[in-house]
Amino acid sequence: MSSVSQRVALNDGHFIPVLGFGTTVPQKVPKSELIKATKIAIDAGFRHFDSAYLYEIEEEVGQAIRSKIADGTVKREDIFYTSKLWSTFHRPELVRSCLEMSLKKAQLDYVDLYIIHFPMPLQAMEKCKDAGLAKSIGVSNFNRRQLEMILNKPGLKYKPVCNQVECHVYLNQSKMLDYCKSKDIALVAYCTLGSSRDAVWVDQKSPVLLDDPVLCAMAKKYKQTPALVALRYLLQRGIVVLARSFNEKRIKENMQVFEFQLTSEDMKVLDGLNRNLRYNSGDFFNGHPNHPFTDEY
Ligand code: NAP
Repeated sequence: MSSVSQRVALNDGHFIPVLGFGTTVPQKVPKSELIKATKIAIDAGFRHFDSAYLYEIEEEVGQAIRSKIADGTVKREDIFYTSKLWSTFHRPELVRSCLEMSLKKAQLDYVDLYIIHFPMPLQAMEKCKDAGLAKSIGVSNFNRRQLEMILNKPGLKYKPVCNQVECHVYLNQSKMLDYCKSKDIALVAYCTLGSSRDAVWVDQKSPVLLDDPVLCAMAKKYKQTPALVALRYLLQRGIVVLARSFNEKRIKENMQVFEFQLTSEDMKVLDGLNRNLRYNSGDFFNGHPNHPFTDEY
């Protein structure tokens, strides 16, 4: 079974595939590799692509998607394309122009999901949905207090459909997940595999998630890989997961996450690995009044 048939309903009636393809490109990798990887991902069954203005790759992802539409593999409506509003466009009158730039780069007419990359008010985003440029709107890296501020805002027209946050076995976000579920907001997880050493913002001294001995032992038990167990753990908790790879074998491997199930006992064992460790510390936000990671969750 591929991610094509594995989708969850968002609170505005649209659906999001539960497995998404991350599109950030490490500095040492040429961007053309992303075109190749995105096409491989579509052929392997990925239908959800997580992009952003900040990543400077929307031309490449758009090109790959359009070429797979042109060769008949998929239709535009089969693809779920996310982009994100970068923080230099937070002034309400700039929000739409950031989205329009993303659409122009990707050469798409609309995004399926437009997310605020780092916390700010939602109001100007609602206009993007009304204009049909974004089917759904959501947020990323919001803590509970910041989500509450949005949800309690008088005149709120559309609730965010998701909060995209770092989430993996070392930062399992159980409180944020409970809160999101109580508000019918999907939790979308990034750094699900512990990110990579070549991401500039990852502390090189942090433990390598996929080397975790419990994860590795469990992978052996299920005859799967540590990456698949790490992704499966999140899926079984009702989380939408992103995974990034430039390697054909691993892109295809990640689709195997739908082929097995962890027992509830093993889910509890994995719960026990939580240590509130962030690979994406958000240090560049230090001192900012909207710093999202200073609250407990
Ligand atoms: P990640 O997906 O946690 O990890 C990527 C690393 O895992 C790569 O080094 C990749 O190496 C490796 N990998 C992938 N599949 C594997 C497998 N089956 N076995 C072993 N290793 C495997 O990385 P991430 O940095 O979080 O990126 C995921 C996506 O989340 C990003 O691309 C972006 O779309 C999103 N994101 C969002 C935010 C935000 O603020 N909203 C922040 C960070 C990331 P190979 O390429 O060699 O396979």
